[in-house]
Amino acid sequence: MEAGRAVLESYGYGEIELPLLEKGELFSRSVGATSDIVEKEMYAFEDRDGTMVALRPEGTASVVRAYIEGGLTRAMPVARLYYTGPMFRRERPQKGRYRQFTQIGAEFLGRDDPSADAETICLVADICEAAGVSDARIDINSLGDEGCRPAYREALSAFGRERIESLCEDCKKRLERNPLRLLDCKVESCAKATADAPMMIDHLCASCRSHHERVLELLAAAGVKVESNPRMVRGLDYYCRTAFEIIGSGLGSQDAIGGGGRYDGLVAALGGPDLAGVGFAFGVERMEMAATDAGEQTRSPEMFIAPVDEVAAEPALVLARRLRRCGSRVELGSPLRRLRAQMKQADKAGARYVIILGADELAAGRATVRDMVNNSDHTALFALDDEADKIIETIGRVGESGA
Ligand code: AMP
Repeated sequence: MEAGRAVLESYGYGEIELPLLEKGELFSRSVGATSDIVEKEMYAFEDRDGTMVALRPEGTASVVRAYIEGGLTRAMPVARLYYTGPMFRRERPQKGRYRQFTQIGAEFLGRDDPSADAETICLVADICEAAGVSDARIDINSLGDEGCRPAYREALSAFGRERIESLCEDCKKRLERNPLRLLDCKVESCAKATADAPMMIDHLCASCRSHHERVLELLAAAGVKVESNPRMVRGLDYYCRTAFEIIGSGLGSQDAIGGGGRYDGLVAALGGPDLAGVGFAFGVERMEMAATDAGEQTRSPEMFIAPVDEVAAEPALVLARRLRRCGSRVELGSPLRRLRAQMKQADKAGARYVIILGADELAAGRATVRDMVNNSDHTALFALDDEADKIIETIGRVGESGA
């Protein structure tokens, strides 16, 4: 989450704090009354005055509501906002799918040009890398717009009606209400029946097509790899044109670590002016499960301070605090544990360096540093009362020398 925050801020996004509870109609008007989220998964209940309220199942609708109500559509129509926090959906719990989960999401409002989509997907790729999931795949599709989607919906619905006997009960209902969802149904007979269904990407109008092609060109120029997936439709009604999903590896059936897309009609649908938007949300728990590479290791402490006895506890605490205040990630061992046990703990935590503070070190006012990667000890590298930045720099040189 912290890695994601830092990347978002480097792209100029500001944080917005959203309420956990909203009026239920906010989600039925935005996410869509026929979406799984609103129909089956939302925790909605009547307030004392009879108003329907809901625990938020997602963040985009609330950001757009705040953008309109807070007057940003006039004061700052082009706005980059991000949020983090719990979301609630009444799904069947399983690995990677919880009824309360955490999202980090962002919305880029007020821009309808393809470069806004491309910048958003670059941001998604950079967050993946910072969070240690650089092997994630980004699937992309275009869902068309109000101009070209209705005719396509009708064609898909007619295609489905001809095969109605092979469709599951859910898809039979989806046929009239939300036929696009036929394409991402996981039931095998539905997947077979829709194998040669018409795809939106082949039915785009000229402006949606050129928008999509420009997004792909810009992403190629930026070196961000995406894969076209014409069956990816996303579950929410408000998307138009660009839609994308981020798929992690090794996660089993719940492998989407994030998703997003463009939603140009949403601000107007929620009572604001006709302003566009594009955004995404990552599921933090799934992203952490998928984190495999360097990003994850950067969460390990850089340094572990091992006080060998109670006398060393005090200078160890002082040193840890000084180093942390200079931005180092420091784990402090227990003076009650033997040095050997502390070294094991440091190893397990993934610490790169261990600073050993024992009687000899304290008497000399200096510390021993063990480089855990090269398995070498370095004594008398710095004095305990040196400036913290100087200590950090000296320790860093130990690793570089590889001695
Ligand atoms: P969505 O807006 O439904 O695409 O959700 C965005 C991301 O939130 C997904 O890609 C998941 O990573 C995460 N997510 C959605 N629902 C759940 C859930 N019930 N439990 C855990 N993570 C979830």
